[in-house]
Amino acid sequence: MDSAAYVDLENRHLAHNYHPLDVVIASAEGAWVVDVDGRRYLDALAGYSALNFGHRHPRLVDAAIAQLGRVTLTSRAFRTDQLGPFARDLAALTGKQRILPMNSGAEAVETALKTARRWGEQVKGVPAGMGEIIVMDGNFHGRTTTIISFSTDPDARDGFGPYTPGFVTTAYGDLDALRELVTDRTVAVLLEPIQGEAGVVIPPEGFLRGVRQLCTERRLLMIADEIQSGLARTGLTFACDHEQVVPDIYVLGKALGGGIVALSAIAADDAVLDVLTPGSHGSTFGGNPLAAAIGREVVAMLATGEFQHRAAALGARLGAGLEGLVGHGVVGVRYRGLWAGVDIDPHLMSGKELCRRMAAHGVLAKDTHGSTIRLAPPLVATETDIDTVVAAVDAALRD
Ligand SMILES: *Cc1c(COP(=O)(O)O)cnc(C)c1O
Repeated sequence: MDSAAYVDLENRHLAHNYHPLDVVIASAEGAWVVDVDGRRYLDALAGYSALNFGHRHPRLVDAAIAQLGRVTLTSRAFRTDQLGPFARDLAALTGKQRILPMNSGAEAVETALKTARRWGEQVKGVPAGMGEIIVMDGNFHGRTTTIISFSTDPDARDGFGPYTPGFVTTAYGDLDALRELVTDRTVAVLLEPIQGEAGVVIPPEGFLRGVRQLCTERRLLMIADEIQSGLARTGLTFACDHEQVVPDIYVLGKALGGGIVALSAIAADDAVLDVLTPGSHGSTFGGNPLAAAIGREVVAMLATGEFQHRAAALGARLGAGLEGLVGHGVVGVRYRGLWAGVDIDPHLMSGKELCRRMAAHGVLAKDTHGSTIRLAPPLVATETDIDTVVAAVDAALRD
C-alpha cells in the first residue's frame, strides 16, 4: 500500500475529529520518524510533549519489555510489585506525599477537579454542591464533558451541552482580576503554568507566585496542570519551578508514560488526597504494572537532571534561531526551555500551510490557533536537529 492508500483508509473509516498532515509514519527513533515511502522527518511536535524522551528511548523500551515478560494488568483490586515503587519515586520527584495514577491527561484533570470539590465540602466547609473552581481564559485541559464545559474555545465546546456548572473563568495572567472572583464558595484555581495549546503563552513574571499566595491566603487549592509543561520540557522539572512555586496539586500526564503508554497522575499531600476514600474514584487501567514500570523509569531519568539541562540548552538555541526570523515572516516568538510558540504573519499564510511546507522540508510541526505554530522537539534532539527546525521554518516562510 502506498501513502495515499493509508490516507484514504483513515479518511474513510475514522471520525473526522482530526485533520492531520498527510505524512504516514511507519517507524521512529529518537527525534526522527520515517514514513511509508522511506522519507525521514524530524519530529518537532513530539506527541505534544508526550515524547520528551524521544521515540523508543532504549531505557524506556527495556523497562517496557522487561515488564511485558512479567505481568501487564491486574486492576487495583490487587497490589503489584510495580505500583508502590512508582508511587514512592513520583512522590519524591514532586515533593508530595501521595499520588493517584490514571491514564489520559483528561482523567487526571477530572481527578483533580473531583478531589478539589470534595476537599471544598469536607475540609473547607463549602455547602454541598456549591463549590466553585476558577479557571483561565484560553485554557486547555482535555476533552471530557466537564472539562470542555469551561473551555473558552468554541471548537472544543459548541454543541456538547448541557455543560457542567461550578466553573468561573478569568483572564490568564491577571492577578487582580482573579482576586476579584474569589468568594466563600471558591475551592480551587486550576491553571496551566504555561498555556501550551493556546500557543505557548507564558504568564507575566510573578503571576504564578501571586496565585500561590492568593490560594494560601484564601484557603484555595492551587492546581497546576503540568501535563504538557512538566517533566523537563521547560528546562526545569516543572514549569512552576521557574517561579519557585509549589502547587497543592500537580496534574501530570503525556511524557509520564514515556511515549509508550497512557499514564497520568495527580500528586498532592495527605491533607488533600485523604478526601478520596475506597470506591470514590478509580480506573481499571490506572496504575497498571506495565505503565508503572515505564513511569518509574521516566522518573529515574528525570532525577538525574540531564533532560532538564538539555531542554534549557537546546531551548536557548531554538529561541535564538527563531528570534532571528522575526521581521522575516515571523511576528512573534515565545519560548521557555525547548518549547516555543511562533506567530507568523497571517498575511503570508496560515499556520497549517506553514506546517505543510515545513513537512516538505523534512520537519513535522503543528499549528495551533490560526497563524501560530508550536515547536516542542524531543529533548534527545541534537544541536544540529535544532538548527534543522529553524532552517525549515525559514525555508517554509520563503517558499
Ligand atoms: C494534552 C493535555 C491535556 C489532556 O491530556 P489527554 O491525555 O489528551 O487527555 C490536559 N492538559 C494539558 C495542559 C494538556 O496539554
